[in-house]
Amino acid sequence: MKVKMILPALTEAESPFWRPIKYSLFPPLGLATLAAYLSPDDEVDLQDQHVETLYLEDEPDLVVIQVYITNAYRAYRIADHYRSRGAYVILGGLHVTSLPDEAAEHADTIFLGPGEETFPRFLKDFRNKIPQKRYSSAIRTLEHIPPLRRDLIKRNRYLVPNSIVVTRGCPHHCNFCYKDAFFEGGKSFYTQAVDDALSEIDRLEGRHLYFLDDHLLGNTRFASALFEGMKGMNRVFQAAGTVDSILRGDLIEKAAAAGLRSLFVGFETFSPTNLKQSNKKQNLAKDYREAVNRLHSLGIMINGSFVFGLDDDDSDVFKRTVDWGVNNAITTATYHILTPYPGTRLYKDMEQQGRILTYDWDQYDTRNVVYQTARIDAATLKKGYDWAYRSFYSWSNIVKASLQHDTHKHKLKHFFYAGGWKKFEAVWNFLIKTRNLNNMLPVLESVLAKVKKGTGRQEHPVATQQQDTSAAACSTGLAKQL
Ligand code: SF4
Repeated sequence: MKVKMILPALTEAESPFWRPIKYSLFPPLGLATLAAYLSPDDEVDLQDQHVETLYLEDEPDLVVIQVYITNAYRAYRIADHYRSRGAYVILGGLHVTSLPDEAAEHADTIFLGPGEETFPRFLKDFRNKIPQKRYSSAIRTLEHIPPLRRDLIKRNRYLVPNSIVVTRGCPHHCNFCYKDAFFEGGKSFYTQAVDDALSEIDRLEGRHLYFLDDHLLGNTRFASALFEGMKGMNRVFQAAGTVDSILRGDLIEKAAAAGLRSLFVGFETFSPTNLKQSNKKQNLAKDYREAVNRLHSLGIMINGSFVFGLDDDDSDVFKRTVDWGVNNAITTATYHILTPYPGTRLYKDMEQQGRILTYDWDQYDTRNVVYQTARIDAATLKKGYDWAYRSFYSWSNIVKASLQHDTHKHKLKHFFYAGGWKKFEAVWNFLIKTRNLNNMLPVLESVLAKVKKGTGRQEHPVATQQQDTSAAACSTGLAKQL
């Protein structure tokens, strides 16, 4: 059987403001995971439109398309195209799970929730010519899943081909996050067996890894055993975790000993009211600055994530947030405009209140305002969001943030990581065009080299004044879309 697997490009990936490097980071692991259930006789072609031009004139028997909110219209067009050519088309992913009836118009079969149990069930039915219209995931386990088909991934087109996922979901329930909608009807947080995760790591060439798990530190027992097993493996890795998990016990020290060098942390907001509105009560009254210092003392760089436009935000929020990031030596910042994704609690609340302004999913990219704001108007929110990016990544702020660290090595690492990521677009574009992105891995590995233990950062009176003892969990639910 001929199988075509497609990740259509997100709409924003083709905008004039597109930073190609941002969409050339990670290969489509979800599709490669599903491909592992196909038979060795099947002919599989996996295409990621972010890094290649789609070839649509072929005649596969089965087409599998992964749908996010901002690639939904494009995914539907591709699906319609292949159905008109006689292929059997199936759609799955976050957006399909949130709006199954919309997706079903463009598919022969749709998938709700994760696919590890439903996709093999579908394949059996399909081969027996009795496929169902809809498969909903109910059994949630990662035991005995086959190794994902990394042979289908065009490694040289990605900066981080060694991305990996060893858990599913997250133990928390933030109102704006897709997680609860996607995992409805079963467990919403579960892990691989530690030995399976270690074997998967062992199979990856090179030193660098990027864990794309929503919350790698979410299960202390699993994460401790994983880090223990990784200790002798000479890896450097990046991952995501919550403020809460950084402060609890000694898990973060174990992660650092195993090679953790940078962490995506969702600070989100400094307002306790916003945290409550977002159902981030698990992190209320945690000390952001203590978390930052702890990471820095372990030589771990921070990608801080922040959300603008929650109901308690006023027009000062942008400057406050940027200043806090710079003064606390956050290496890179990811800002989002609050976005009520369909299926989330936030969406239901806003719909009930009549606050959804558009149902054009292309606008739901966390760069546009799609809902009626509360204390700031939409234009101020959009302007403030754009300003925050420009300001945080100005050379003066990159230098200022780098100088907050207490060792020269950490200062340099910060400077090269933040500057390299945001300031050398032409170089990145050249590497992408010449298919040399993967050759940058040794550079990335050296920037992620270990920093000697320090006290964390220099004391900074402004940062001390601005310290806020409220906290938030991660916003990977938003970032995931990017
Ligand atoms: S936003 Fe982050 S912490 Fe909250 S539920 Fe989603 S993944 Fe978990």
